[in-house]
Amino acid sequence: MTTVGILGGGQLARMLALSGAPLGLRFLVMDNVADACAGQFAPMVVGDYRDESALAEFASRVDVATFDFENVPAESAQWLSDRVPVFPNPGALATAQDRLAEKTLFRELGIPVPPFAAIETRADLDAALAQIGTPSILKTRRLGYDGKGQFRIKTPADADAAWDALGAQASKVGLILEGFVHFQRELSVVAVRGRDGEFRAWPLTENWHVDGVLSASLAPARVDSALQEIAYDYARRLGEAMDYVGVFALELFCRDGELLANELAPRVHNSGHWTIEGSETSQFQNHLRAVLGLPLGDTRMVGLACMLNWIGEMPDALPMLREPGGHWHDYGKLPRDGRKVGHATLRADNADALAAALARVGEALGRQAQVTPVVARLRG
Ligand code: ATP
Ligand code: MG
Ligand code: MG
Repeated sequence: MTTVGILGGGQLARMLALSGAPLGLRFLVMDNVADACAGQFAPMVVGDYRDESALAEFASRVDVATFDFENVPAESAQWLSDRVPVFPNPGALATAQDRLAEKTLFRELGIPVPPFAAIETRADLDAALAQIGTPSILKTRRLGYDGKGQFRIKTPADADAAWDALGAQASKVGLILEGFVHFQRELSVVAVRGRDGEFRAWPLTENWHVDGVLSASLAPARVDSALQEIAYDYARRLGEAMDYVGVFALELFCRDGELLANELAPRVHNSGHWTIEGSETSQFQNHLRAVLGLPLGDTRMVGLACMLNWIGEMPDALPMLREPGGHWHDYGKLPRDGRKVGHATLRADNADALAAALARVGEALGRQAQVTPVVARLRG
């Protein structure tokens, strides 16, 4: 009996555990809060990721360890990897935790990125603004997620407000200024790399964000296949450079037919949730296969899929459950503003059928604003 340890006990760990059950896997999750939602399906070690005794207990009970949470301290991941196999490797995790390190790697590999500069002082910010210009975005280098730890600088006059908001973080987690990209689309490539270096990727996905949080994803993205090949090539280069094992997502901006890399998530990704029902092998199952050294499953999909995120509270499930291609995921979390509490995936054989089903569900739930951009893309 193999036990997979997962650092972080959120919905990603929960979906990993659910997808690993048919493989006969056992799971142990570690989280710093006792009510983490993966705990409903797997035993838990509750403790701080820096607490050596909690980590030691975790290590003693697992055969292999992986992450649901990318901000596990790099030293803790390293400590663990001296005792038990850890995938992805702690070096890859460390790179992806730091926006400056990951953007530097993108650039080294010839992957286009928006202009960026490391910011340590207020003078650095002024110098970077003079170079990069506005609009631009000041971001924390570490620990940001769902658009948190970011300040949009629309004109040079916003520099004071940006520094008031984030300046104190400069000495703690570091800051980076990025040029704002006037993109037409946001895309992501979710990919998996096996222990033997085999690389596979799911069809390119288009994503819509609201207030920095993913709202909807559509797969396959309605782009020409040449663009998808470029995205695969970038992902393949990154996987090789980091000697990555497992699933990762590369977030991309598409501007005037060119792809610019935004960030890399060293884990299964929200924009890949549709793979549970929409593809032959889900990102969760393939992540487990990769970290266990098992053959990777086919990433092909049949038809189209749209994922809708439920933020704050769960809507009524019935309109989605009435749809022939409707699938429901309630993470079992308490409602809270801005919190990802669940998602749904709608699958259909063609664009017209998917657009019609999305419009029906959006109407029934009073969530027209969430489905409209996806419907427009499908009908466009
Ligand atoms: P995630 O939850 O995806 O990890 P995050 O907090 O790490 O989010 P980003 O992905 O950097 O943040 O930014 C969130 C969103 O803000 C992006 O998906 C995009 O919509 C917008 N955004 C971020 N950086 C830029 C940029 N340089 N130009 C234009 N839009 C941007
Ligand atoms: Mg991120
Ligand atoms: Mg992001």
